[in-house]
Amino acid sequence: MPILVKNLKCDAEHCNHKEDIDTKVPLERYIGKSCPKCGESLLTQEDYETVQALQTMAETLDSLFPVVGRNEVSEILLPIELRGDGKLYPRRD
Ligand SMILES: [Zn+2]
Repeated sequence: MPILVKNLKCDAEHCNHKEDIDTKVPLERYIGKSCPKCGESLLTQEDYETVQALQTMAETLDSLFPVVGRNEVSEILLPIELRGDGKLYPRRD
């Protein structure tokens, strides 16, 4: 099951800018993109690497437990967010 990042939220604490991204565009193209409101990064290299680690984990789980792929589960929403330091946090909104 691929990890799909659907939007990028500004990493600045005081800023609530969030933008949807084209999921067909490789995520690495968004590394270093600046927030149009405050100029803070929308996706840091650290956060990108964390997403890659999640992707690897998801592929490992898929290979260990392929039954998930045969169920009707086509999408699992992870209520997490990244804040620029490469760590995972529970989503605030
Ligand atoms: Zn911002």
